[in-house]
Amino acid sequence: MKRISHWIDGKVAAGTSGRCGAVFNPATGEVQAEVDFADISEVDRAVATAKAALPAWRATNLSRRAEIMFNLRELIDANRKEIAALLSLEHGKVLSDALGEVSRGLENIEFACGVPHLLKGSYSEQASSGVDVYNIRQPLGVVAGITPFNFPAMVPMWMFSTAVACGNTFVLKPSEKDPSVTMFVAELLKQAGLPDGVYNIVHGDKVAVDRLLDHPDIAAVSFVGSTPIAKYIYETGTRNGKRVQALGGAKNHMLVLPDADLDMAADAAVSAAYGSAGERCMAVSVLLAHETIADSLVGKIQERIPNIKVGPGDEPGNEMGPLITGEHRDKVAGYVAGATKEGARVVVDGRDGAPNGGFFLKPSLIDDVKPGMACYDEEIFGPVLSVVRVGSYDEGVDLINSNQYGNGTAIFTRDGGVARQFQFDINVGMVGINVPIPVPVSYYSFGGWKASLFGDQHMYGPEGINFFTRGKVVTSRWPDPRTSKVDLGFPQNR
Ligand code: NAD
Repeated sequence: MKRISHWIDGKVAAGTSGRCGAVFNPATGEVQAEVDFADISEVDRAVATAKAALPAWRATNLSRRAEIMFNLRELIDANRKEIAALLSLEHGKVLSDALGEVSRGLENIEFACGVPHLLKGSYSEQASSGVDVYNIRQPLGVVAGITPFNFPAMVPMWMFSTAVACGNTFVLKPSEKDPSVTMFVAELLKQAGLPDGVYNIVHGDKVAVDRLLDHPDIAAVSFVGSTPIAKYIYETGTRNGKRVQALGGAKNHMLVLPDADLDMAADAAVSAAYGSAGERCMAVSVLLAHETIADSLVGKIQERIPNIKVGPGDEPGNEMGPLITGEHRDKVAGYVAGATKEGARVVVDGRDGAPNGGFFLKPSLIDDVKPGMACYDEEIFGPVLSVVRVGSYDEGVDLINSNQYGNGTAIFTRDGGVARQFQFDINVGMVGINVPIPVPVSYYSFGGWKASLFGDQHMYGPEGINFFTRGKVVTSRWPDPRTSKVDLGFPQNR
């Protein structure tokens, strides 16, 4: 059986805790590997290694740090297919989707190649006579990343690219469900020239996470996962004096107005609801259909669903793979089962005809959904699209704004004025106008509002640079014996 161990000080470190977890092949349901679960002493070793590597790394000049990021960019580009295959095997997503994940992660490495420019401060000459003032941004120290199963390559790249380029050293606790890809990328970081100890991985569960949250040498924690855990990470980490950004779950609504191109809206809804089996935090899970076009739109979506090819991610032509575990598949199926009892109408039931053997579920479409039903109120995180019929733009906006989550949303309309009003009105962090999955490009920042993000800084891009650095302002005067005198007054500029 394949064994996945930690990565400490530039090499694989076999686990010593005696605890481990099973890694499934979701397409067959079989256990294909075991992953070591770190205990406190193993986390402490990783943090101590990162701390020892910090002085030399933060003193490494910006050109060299950029060069390493450029090298990494080339290596990831050259190994795209291998990375995608590795993550698809443990996550289950189809290869084309896995390649898309690698590509979006690579954007973050490319952003980090510009770190010399990104860390430039500002300078005010002659702020007072002979006095200059300037600001610089410095790394925080040893920082940690804790990541979810659904983007096992991309989400760690969101974090470590910026953290490491800014001069921090890093300890990653990836999802225990699909951990192999992080080990592969660690090897690439080493080949790219990153000094040993700058990037470390501890695998595991709550034991490892809790140690990172209370370790006195961890300065900041970047987290992505479900809302209850994000809230716990934020509260515990900040209570322990750490800087924390914790991204949580989502319930993304797509509002379709009567003037929208309905075929385009149906294509977008199907792609965004069922891509990656709905296991995306930016997946569309609620369709708000204006009542005048709802029948037509639901019909168009229903027509498209049977064409979606569901099967193992590594078989060419498949468009949707299995869910991550059998337990999760059963939970998602439970929402479809419960919908009829709650008064909704199951138009397409994904429990029918799913491939045998793995954790498969086909796409489901539920109409006449209302707030108060479990399939509306809760994050399902599976291939289930709920349709809520609304009588007006205002009713749609009210529903979105009263939802506990605020990760992503989209409006489909041809009316530019209404779209502009939507971007003004809506209490959501990432908005699409005729774009169903508006994941920001790497030079903007990613993050939701409300229960989708705890903390002040969004992930990657300019806010990522802010998160992983702290500002310092220097006020300087060079000695000039001609102007020197004793002055007990408060320093003034005029
Ligand atoms: P999860 O919250 O179960 O796990 C995330 C991480 O937290 C993992 O590393 C896991 O080992 C750890 N963890 C789990 N339980 C813990 C506990 N009790 N104490 C401490 N650590 C714990 O999330 P998941 O199932 O891996 O991922 C799916 C969730 O992530 C969904 O809710 C999805 O919306 C969310 N997500 C959000 C974003 C975003 O950007 N907002 C992106 C991707 C995924």
